[in-house]
Amino acid sequence: MKVTRRDFIKVTGLGAATIALSQLGIDLGPAKAYAKELKIKGAKETISICPFCSVCCHYIAHTRDGKVVSTEGDPGYPVSEGALCAKGATMNSMINSHHRIVKPMYRAPYSDHWEIKSWDWMLNQVARRIKETRDKNFKTTNESGQVVNRVENIFHLGSSQMSNEELALWHQALRAMGVVWMDHQARI
Ligand code: SF4
Repeated sequence: MKVTRRDFIKVTGLGAATIALSQLGIDLGPAKAYAKELKIKGAKETISICPFCSVCCHYIAHTRDGKVVSTEGDPGYPVSEGALCAKGATMNSMINSHHRIVKPMYRAPYSDHWEIKSWDWMLNQVARRIKETRDKNFKTTNESGQVVNRVENIFHLGSSQMSNEELALWHQALRAMGVVWMDHQARI
């Protein structure tokens, strides 16, 4: 958005007036609450979960016409009682960011550009490559002849974008495949 000199003076003038009113003892609380109400008026409220860490704070997503228009902490969530840290507090801008990638992107080996692929194509690729790597390198015994049934050349790094439940499921799948090397990015 382009801000002209006139716009800037208007906004800073309004800011100064607001400070002055509160210094005169005028309660701006109702006006602020009214402004907030206008923003979310008629919007549908849905409780969702911040995906950034294992605290899993709940937040309320306000949606109108299928678009998230505002997010705020859920006071009913007993762990954080409506509070959100800096990451959770920016949920609305993350959801609506034009940088957000919403389709599977693939860059072929030695290619210099990304291609949009379907979810089916991408999931098949991932599954095929994991299976090929696992089958080719699966070890049934170690150097001492002890049974180990493991694969040592796949490493998995968990993501703070995954919920506890997704990670628990994925951890079991990795163990079932024999993967022994894994860590989680959220604690870095
Ligand atoms: S990143 Fe912050 S807001 Fe999100 S779940 Fe963790 S503590 Fe809560």
